[in-house]
Amino acid sequence: MFSKHQIIRKLIFLVYPVIRILFRPITKRYLTIFLFHEITNNPSDFQLANRNYTTVQNFQKNIEWIAENYKVIEISQLADLTLENTRPLAVITFDDAWKGQVAASKHISSNHGLPFTLFLNIGAVTSRIDIAALRSFNQIAVPRFSEFIELTGEKDSVISEFENWQGDIMTMDEVAELGDLPYSTIANHSLHHYPAIELTRAEFLKNVEINERHLSKLNSFKKYYAFTFGRPQIDYTDEHVELLESINYHYIFSAEGKLNKLPLKKQTIFSRVNFSPTDSKKSDFWWATNKSVLLRRF
Ligand SMILES: [Zn+2]
Repeated sequence: MFSKHQIIRKLIFLVYPVIRILFRPITKRYLTIFLFHEITNNPSDFQLANRNYTTVQNFQKNIEWIAENYKVIEISQLADLTLENTRPLAVITFDDAWKGQVAASKHISSNHGLPFTLFLNIGAVTSRIDIAALRSFNQIAVPRFSEFIELTGEKDSVISEFENWQGDIMTMDEVAELGDLPYSTIANHSLHHYPAIELTRAEFLKNVEINERHLSKLNSFKKYYAFTFGRPQIDYTDEHVELLESINYHYIFSAEGKLNKLPLKKQTIFSRVNFSPTDSKKSDFWWATNKSVLLRRF
């Protein structure tokens, strides 16, 4: 038996050649912001459990499909967009600091020459611990990073078991390399990957500002912010958006899975769409990208 998801994707595969063309004028009325996480053929147990990775082959097909169908722009170009574009507009982003993103970034930069932005947590790079992974490790609720370190400080085996489960994080040298890569922009994803909603105002600001201090040493750093986990009202609230605005962040990104209606209003918050590990055909990419618009219409 097929799941509902599989049936929809088979249907979309059949109608894709037609629907792609019919839907194109609608796509042009939106700004599409793509979000990628780890790009790997060997996902860690954490990445498998959370389905937040793309295989190298699917990623390369994704980028080809994006290059074929969109005009890819930089976030800095969002300030003066016109509606008279011949092609739909898109932005490419990555979140977190996974190892496979290094090769993926080089692929976009040298094989496609397309601009992209990496939202990094430097805390994960320096500590080698990603808080999103830590939070789901063995279902242990870890309220605070320092407590985990205290609890497991003497238990090296627990740490290495965790590191295996979590997957590989990029190094500081690789962060510097990405900062110098043509077409790349480095931006802020908080020092550690806590959901904003679980932090006090002071803790939240500290995570943003310490990360900014590290990243601002890189030439391609820009003051853009992507919320960790990124679900509005669940992981962050309007109060966090206001706090970010108060420290001069005016381009803030969620992971709400929607497209952004053009012309852009006087807005600071932008939504992003992402692909699932099994999206491998053009019709899958099309559906993952545009389903929010279609599901709202019908
Ligand atoms: Zn993240």
